[in-house]
Amino acid sequence: PIYMDYSATTPIDPRVADKMIPYLREQFGNPASRSHMYGWTAEAAVEEARGHVAALVNADSREIIWTSGATESNNLALKGAANFYKSKGKHIITVKTEHKSVLDTVRELERQGFDATYLDTQDNGLITIEQLEAAVRPDTILISVMMVNNEIGVIQPIKEIAAFCRKKGIIFHCDAAQATGKVAIDLQDLKVDLMTFTAHKTYGPKGVGALYVCRKPRVRIEAQMHGGGHERGLRSGTLPTHQIVAMGEAFRLAKVEMESEIARIRALRDRLAKGLQEIEETYINGDMDHRVPHNLNVSFNYVEGESLIMAVKDLAVSSGSACTSASLEPSYVLRALGRSDELAHSSIRFTIGRFTTEQDVDFAVELLKSKVGKLRELSPLWDM
Ligand code: PLP
Repeated sequence: PIYMDYSATTPIDPRVADKMIPYLREQFGNPASRSHMYGWTAEAAVEEARGHVAALVNADSREIIWTSGATESNNLALKGAANFYKSKGKHIITVKTEHKSVLDTVRELERQGFDATYLDTQDNGLITIEQLEAAVRPDTILISVMMVNNEIGVIQPIKEIAAFCRKKGIIFHCDAAQATGKVAIDLQDLKVDLMTFTAHKTYGPKGVGALYVCRKPRVRIEAQMHGGGHERGLRSGTLPTHQIVAMGEAFRLAKVEMESEIARIRALRDRLAKGLQEIEETYINGDMDHRVPHNLNVSFNYVEGESLIMAVKDLAVSSGSACTSASLEPSYVLRALGRSDELAHSSIRFTIGRFTTEQDVDFAVELLKSKVGKLRELSPLWDM
């Protein structure tokens, strides 16, 4: 099948894969080994990679902490900050459309005695500063808002939110797992305290990520993994050199190629959108202006969700239903935008990327045109 599920994970860039191999074979040293060449070589590679990750987001290398991915970074940021600052207050604010690794972590903090507010979005998937302002309390210590939504690709107004939090003295965490290589991130300009990254959404391998922890002003978090004191005591555990080197290379390439890549992908996405909009009763989910170029999320009215996914199995895409347990639940993100269960069910997330071609897009359009037409002929609700 044609791969259009780049927001689930990207294929690893072959240049990135090539980079990691020597660190699995000859350069297998432990970066924490201080007494011989194997350790020094590994340590130097880890530090070079840290520099590449920092450079993509205009941060200082010392602000980058390696983790196992965005789920761990979100856990470390939220639990770490909430626990460090809990003597100042116990209220946390986040948004209903965040990734589960934020929502479930905040739920866990609620079980531990914190208080949480989950903001609704507007119909376009975005929140406003006015909403935040209304939700803030004197005991609010932490706010978490993602940069790019994984389902609908909308970009939240992070610069404004961060400035607001800094003014109020509230710690601001931002999950940027879906943003790297797609949106320019300048942490000298954005007043973000904690930011989450992962390699496998940006052509790196799975199982490695990072957390940015701002040094000016100094943001504090409590470690969640205890042990050898790696990563300045914030995240113990032997560093996976090969994974880290690969993440560094993936982020270095993202910085070099982002501008031209975005232009190419935007043109493909617009071609896809134009083709799909020729099908009647299709609705795009989420704001089209504040959105990454590689995402299109479309609801096809009057087709049954499960049949739709079966019908387009030559296309690797995500559906608007999350297969949680046995029941097909409509996407909580689309529900939060105010979409009906039916429209949420009959939606498809197309996410394209570095290796998508015009032929892939045309194939997808033709497939959807033909399959949606056929499914509607069978639908008792379709009478056009
Ligand atoms: N946050 C967002 C917005 C995501 O899209 C994902 C990916 O599923 C994650 C966090 C979790 O990332 P990871 O797979 O690196 O733990």
